[in-house]
Amino acid sequence: MKKTSKIKRLILDADDTLWENNIYYINTAEDFVDLITQSGLSKEKIEQDFQTLERKVVKEMGYGSQNYLYILRTVFEQYASVINIQDITPEFEEICSEFESHLHTPPKIFPEVPSILAKLGEKYQLYILTKGNIEEQKQKLEKSELLKYFQQAFVESEKDINTYRRILKDNQWAVDEICMIGNSPKSDINPALKLGMCAVLIPYQHTWVLEDEPLLPNQDRLKIVQSFSDLPSLFY
Ligand SMILES: [Mg+2]
Repeated sequence: MKKTSKIKRLILDADDTLWENNIYYINTAEDFVDLITQSGLSKEKIEQDFQTLERKVVKEMGYGSQNYLYILRTVFEQYASVINIQDITPEFEEICSEFESHLHTPPKIFPEVPSILAKLGEKYQLYILTKGNIEEQKQKLEKSELLKYFQQAFVESEKDINTYRRILKDNQWAVDEICMIGNSPKSDINPALKLGMCAVLIPYQHTWVLEDEPLLPNQDRLKIVQSFSDLPSLFY
């Protein structure tokens, strides 16, 4: 991917690549599990109930924080027949509002990101490709103050191979001119590799379990780096 590379454009994921995201969900889920276990249900059961509903909701209603709150409330209410949820409702509401509070603040950008984007932007055209609730993702992008580094931001409700294929076609981009960079094997790396693009995985310790899947094997078009700061060494 170095000197002989034809790459002209870098497409970057946003959540958990440019800024913190999933940690808010993880912290909320942990607080929720702690609260319910105090009432006698097992951690395993709560986590299982939560993930079962989460998979269903994501499939049927999409991503985003409002859907997450809906999952929290639905699981909480379904325990009304087995535990006394009235007693813990104030604590539950506190967990929900703490989660909601992060929605009103700008995304917490990883510290090295702006300077690295400025550097990469000297040589490459930069794009963002993010998925989630469209309005919520757009707000995060605006509040991030990172848009000045990018030619364009693509905000999508899903990031699968069809999304990538459509973006390439709409912009008449050749696959070998593009590298996709992100933290999610499922949404950033595997679809890009399947289409013939290069990809850089920046693994993130708090990546959402639903974003994890095995990487396509034997990929010479894939690089894995430890942090965002390693990107210039790949592209210069
Ligand atoms: Mg991501």
